[in-house]
Amino acid sequence: MFAPGGQSAATASGLPFGGIPAELQDGVDRLLESEPEHPEPTAVFHHRESEEDLRRLTLWRLLTAYPKLLWIAAALIVVMSVTLQAGPYLTEIAVNDGMIPPHQHLSVIALAALAYLVCASVTALAQRSQVRTTGRLAAGVMNDLRVRVFAHLQRLSLDFFTDEKAGVLMSRMTADIENLQQLLQDGLAQFAIQGLTMVVITAVLFTMNVRLALITVLLIVPVLTILSLWFRSASVNAYDKVRDGIANVLADLSESLHGVRIVTSHNRQRHNVIHHRNVVGRYRDANIYTAQLNALYGPGTQMLSVLGQGALLAIGGDMVLHHQLTIGALFAFFLYLNRFLQPIQLLVQQYNTYQQGQASVYKLRTLLETRPSVPEAAGAYELPPIEGRISFRHVSFGYDPDTPVIHGVDLTIEPGETVAFVGPTGAGKSTLAKLITRFYDPSEGRVLIDGHDLREVTFRSLRRQLGVVPQEPFLFAGTVKDNLAFARPEAADSEVDEAVHAVGLEEMLGRLPDGLDTLVHERGQSLSSGERQLIALGRAFLAHPRVLVLDEATSNLDLLSETKVEAALDVLLEGRTAVLIAHRLSTAMKADRIVVVDDGEIAETGSHDELVAAGGRYAAMYETWMRQAEAEAVPSS
Ligand code: ADP
Repeated sequence: MFAPGGQSAATASGLPFGGIPAELQDGVDRLLESEPEHPEPTAVFHHRESEEDLRRLTLWRLLTAYPKLLWIAAALIVVMSVTLQAGPYLTEIAVNDGMIPPHQHLSVIALAALAYLVCASVTALAQRSQVRTTGRLAAGVMNDLRVRVFAHLQRLSLDFFTDEKAGVLMSRMTADIENLQQLLQDGLAQFAIQGLTMVVITAVLFTMNVRLALITVLLIVPVLTILSLWFRSASVNAYDKVRDGIANVLADLSESLHGVRIVTSHNRQRHNVIHHRNVVGRYRDANIYTAQLNALYGPGTQMLSVLGQGALLAIGGDMVLHHQLTIGALFAFFLYLNRFLQPIQLLVQQYNTYQQGQASVYKLRTLLETRPSVPEAAGAYELPPIEGRISFRHVSFGYDPDTPVIHGVDLTIEPGETVAFVGPTGAGKSTLAKLITRFYDPSEGRVLIDGHDLREVTFRSLRRQLGVVPQEPFLFAGTVKDNLAFARPEAADSEVDEAVHAVGLEEMLGRLPDGLDTLVHERGQSLSSGERQLIALGRAFLAHPRVLVLDEATSNLDLLSETKVEAALDVLLEGRTAVLIAHRLSTAMKADRIVVVDDGEIAETGSHDELVAAGGRYAAMYETWMRQAEAEAVPSS
């Protein structure tokens, strides 16, 4: 018996698989028996939210998703809180009934000691199980939450993912989820344990001696509570200052490092040092303040406990003399007093964790309640196989509804036609392309494919028949092959080879160490931009889309790469409807039709020759371009 992955992993790394040595086999078998099954994860993804996703996120809902674990944890916490507090009570019995004349019985002392031992063992066992249970509970809840938030992000529309939001989203997925994890793993259990401990101790004290219990509780609890509450509010502010302080120090440092050239060239070093000294100084002050707070609270509570013991000694001693209290009970009171202070301190400290956790739940809830701005219609139908006729009917659109960037566009692109959008930067070419892929919906008018309004069909069926090649292709972590087969992971090897051949990737693959299996690192930074472009074209080829939307790369490719990319493009565009956002007129010239976009409107359409003959905007652009090309061709030496 051996995990199936083992052998193939060894083979994959080129090592012969020698089998498990006989003397280790038993150990391996035993280990595997205790190993839980890890079935293939099943992740279902819908564009529309499921029932569960629509329920409001609350801490309670998160926890009750695992009712069994929650009950076990609760039961263990109750057991622990009781057994943990049995010690002083048993001491009382041992002292009163075993040590003080005339009740001197070794057997009572021995029994009490034994019971003490049993209780301690039970506590330890219960604690172990509780930590394991809450750990599993927290891990399960966090796993579900991570998947849920991630799935929700996948569902949101493109306009949600602006650059400034990326930072916020990362912090939701890291800091906020961490906060919750801490609360679930330890915080809530501690809350319950400390709270219960206080209840148990108070109850025991009152059963032993009401008067002394009353004095103890009234003497200690209010003072400690006030002290702790003050400490909490002061330290929250102080720690906020510390956090701000370190953030400022890091920001200042990072700015200085990034701007070091400008700093040097403008002789600002001295000024920068002074500025940094101020920033660091504020951080130091914040740290000193927190140290002072801690110096007050720690010794303060310590003193309270000592004072409490002094008072207990005087009052309790007096009660013993007057036969109102047994010596054993006084003993027990002393022992309980110390145990009583700790929960209050801990509760107050844990309250921060609780608050942070709740704040994180709130932020995550807000995120989960964000609706996609381009939703799939409730009655969306499957787009049948299309020929690829794209029509814009009086389409207007603005990213911000108040400032339209596309004004009443009418345009039809025939099946199999290649149309190039040209025009100045910011004219709206990419926006028109984004409307075809339904990254956004028009605010007025309709975008149709083969007569189907894009808003009425399912995303899946639409995007399966659309291919998009962005300006800067994005390569994912994985092999070259994974990246080629990104849209169709199930594609057969022969299809991948066909795509490789079609876009002329063979030569590049020959240079890579493992050919198709070469790992692409960090978004393909190890490949040249021409190579990344070819992979993106291969990816689109393999997806067999009917309609292709392609944003031409503006990055300067060397002449050889450019020729290759253009050849690949010719193969890719053949027989497909294609919309090309052309940044070079040389590309536009090859299209069947050129659409000149200006200020969100279509200024001219026609073939290259027609537009040049018409002498309009395109003709002017062409002339400028020709003159530039000539000037470059004839060096002015
Ligand atoms: P082009 O592709 O022709 O260079 P775009 O379609 O990218 O032009 O842009 C058209 C207009 O829309 C520009 O004014 C641009 O600033 C604006 N724009 C583009 N993308 C966004 C966006 N995500 N949010 C807001 N405004 C945008």
